[in-house]
Amino acid sequence: MSAEILNLFGSERTEPEGPHLSGQAVCMACKHEWVAGAPVGTVHLECPACKRTWGQFKNPVEPSVAWSCQCGEQLFWITPNGCQCRACGSIQEGMF
Ligand SMILES: [Zn+2]
Ligand SMILES: [Zn+2]
Repeated sequence: MSAEILNLFGSERTEPEGPHLSGQAVCMACKHEWVAGAPVGTVHLECPACKRTWGQFKNPVEPSVAWSCQCGEQLFWITPNGCQCRACGSIQEGMF
């Protein structure tokens, strides 16, 4: 059993665990870098070095598995007609 699971069933009552993000973070004030974990939607992270809330995730959020266009692109515009490849312009089919 991992420490995280133990924490969920511990005697101390805490907020329900929602979806979280984790990854490399950097403080824009003191440039300290660390691995941060935070609930999805958190924009400002508290820097463990200077304690200011100037931290932010370094990298964009990327899913572990993602759809690819025939041209290889993985970023799309969401339009009334469907998801349109930002590279070749084709509307994606068969994704859902
Ligand atoms: Zn800092
Ligand atoms: Zn494409």
